Amino acid sequence: MGYLGVDIGGSFIKYCGRAGDDIKKGKIPTEKGFDSILKALRTLVKDFSPERLGLGVAGLYDQKTGRLTASPNIRFLEGIDLKEILEEELGTPVIIQNDASAAALGEYRYGAGKGAEILVCFTLGTGLGGGLVVNGRLVSGVSGSAMEIGHTTIDVDGWYCHCGRKGCLEAYVSSYGLERFYFFLTDQKLDSAEIILLANEGKLEAMKALEEFSRYLAVGLMNVLHIFNPDRVVIGGGIPQHYPAVIDLAVSNLKKMAFELPFRDVQILKAELGEYSGAYGALVLSEEGL
Ligand SMILES: [Zn+2]
Repeated sequence: MGYLGVDIGGSFIKYCGRAGDDIKKGKIPTEKGFDSILKALRTLVKDFSPERLGLGVAGLYDQKTGRLTASPNIRFLEGIDLKEILEEELGTPVIIQNDASAAALGEYRYGAGKGAEILVCFTLGTGLGGGLVVNGRLVSGVSGSAMEIGHTTIDVDGWYCHCGRKGCLEAYVSSYGLERFYFFLTDQKLDSAEIILLANEGKLEAMKALEEFSRYLAVGLMNVLHIFNPDRVVIGGGIPQHYPAVIDLAVSNLKKMAFELPFRDVQILKAELGEYSGAYGALVLSEEGL
């Protein structure tokens, strides 16, 4: 028997599988539609024969009904009996968590969160996800929807968020948030990857947009420090991976903003598992059956 964790995203599934001591990871492009995902999962389950399958899925996963109640990036998965259907189709037990919670677990066991007592993980991609691990246990709330850091409000009259609310942290701290900062500075619409490229070439407006972005990231970090007093915060996702300076900028802002006590005892690190944090976390779900 092996173990298998899969992170289901909008256009790829990423997996981490273990047979013996070796961990194999990879990325499979999927088309829009459940069948494409199911086909990829079938192949992986055949390859790794997992004792149970661990899954990370973007969106709000209801632990009580086994359904994804909201998933802006994978709409076709919303509302279906995900757990039941997968267990039936794949013939193996399935454990599902939100992808950002899975990422926190992955970083805790295999990455930058090792040994932390209270670990908070930010996943900074298209949106902003959060995860919390306390004394080795994932804290995902009574229904599975805890740690939606991205949808905490930081300005009641602020920018629109993809969730439909105003002034969510994610409206600023996400790839589309970064695109907005850049737009307001230059009147130009570029996507976040292009902005990061320009910033890495030393282009001032792009660097300035990332500086603004980091001030808001610092607000998110401060809120988390004031609520949880964690010893470790790990920041993952595409933006810090390709522009790590954003973390240093956020930490220097944070130092000026936060209470001294929680700031003193926290270590803020870049995620170590890159784009595979969620898949590693799903592997932990498979291994430990959390
Ligand atoms: Zn929101």
